[in-house]
Amino acid sequence: MLNRYDLLLVGSGLFNSIIAREAKHKGLKCLVLEKRDNIGGNLYCEDVEGIHVHKYGPHIFHTKEKRIWDYVNNLTSFNHFIYTPLARYKDKLYNLPFNMNTFYQLWGTITPAEAMIKLKEQQIEMKNDNLEEKALSLVGKDIYETLIKGYTEKQWGKSATELPSFIIQRLPIRFRYDNNYFNDPYQGIPVGGYNPLIEQCFKGCDIQLSTDFLHDRDYFAKQADKVVFTGMIDAYYEYIYGALEYRSLRFEEERLETENYQGNAAVNYTQREIPYTRIIEHKLFEFGTQPHTVITREYPAVWEKGQEPFYPVNTAINNKRYEQYRLLSEKEKKVIFGGRLGYYKYLDMDQIIALALDASKEIINCFN
Ligand code: FAD
Repeated sequence: MLNRYDLLLVGSGLFNSIIAREAKHKGLKCLVLEKRDNIGGNLYCEDVEGIHVHKYGPHIFHTKEKRIWDYVNNLTSFNHFIYTPLARYKDKLYNLPFNMNTFYQLWGTITPAEAMIKLKEQQIEMKNDNLEEKALSLVGKDIYETLIKGYTEKQWGKSATELPSFIIQRLPIRFRYDNNYFNDPYQGIPVGGYNPLIEQCFKGCDIQLSTDFLHDRDYFAKQADKVVFTGMIDAYYEYIYGALEYRSLRFEEERLETENYQGNAAVNYTQREIPYTRIIEHKLFEFGTQPHTVITREYPAVWEKGQEPFYPVNTAINNKRYEQYRLLSEKEKKVIFGGRLGYYKYLDMDQIIALALDASKEIINCFN
């Protein structure tokens, strides 16, 4: 029987959008299955009266790689947005990432030498291997208690003394007055949100929305010569080695009749008692001038099967379990796994694009 398609792309997130674009250039025919009712995966933006609302969490594009920056700029235009989040603790605001502005706000120190002395005074030696002691050893009591403890405990739903120290391998500290969160030379937000970028990539593909590949995998797999699966790898294998753990998020969106609610795209709430971790004001990603605004409060949530998986919990047990699934996936002849859920790893968009470009070369080679 002749397949109608060369490639079946399961999932319409960034990973498969790049595969689709590269495959099309080589004349391959793609069918896309997406279980949600829109394409774009976690990059999807909803247009609320001209404001592009990042429905699955705010996404700022940043990269060190010029070839990736050129690649995305060929798909859509980017603005000059720079991510400079603020942290609110009680009634005070602090700049992030930790830099000379933050030290001034905390301690009144003016010069890097003064800030270094203050920091050194506070750093402790680690006696127990947990997140609290790790953070105290890196940045000391004031920064830890004001800006890290409450936020991290909310995010992971556990006390910092119960959390493993590997969660914070390092905490970026800058002895410069510089609030730019990322160190990368290229940064911005697509003008008009992420949907045009994604639509451009999938142009010419057949797309079936609200369709879960796993509901009839045999039927769908017969539609193409190769399948690129970007859903959860453990779900694909029906959890035979157990479920991989995730943390989830809950978003509470509000439209407000005010032009400017918080004056900054992102404000983190670092107090434990405030249940959300941050408030996003979407129009500020694109310097919007609408008379109204849309904000989203982001609440960390426990993940259970069936809920949106946001952050993989890369403990030793979960990583070992993932490795078992990965070994199984290597034996597949027709199915290739990709994307953040296929690799069970948090990956920024530029990393996803680099991985998808590599994967697309291999996939296209199969058709030569
Ligand atoms: P996804 O976007 O998750 O796409 C997978 C798609 O597959 C989904 O649409 C899903 O519905 C679909 N699917 C799954 N299973 C099936 C199935 N069985 N059948 C059919 N369809 C299926 N990166 C940055 O560079 N900058 C940021 O600021 C940033 N912010 C982030 C904020 C949050 C809260 C999170 C969680 C991530 C953030 N990222 C950011 C990372 C970014 O979201 C990822 O790099 C990117 O979305 C990964 O794309 P993907 O295609 O692998 O996965």
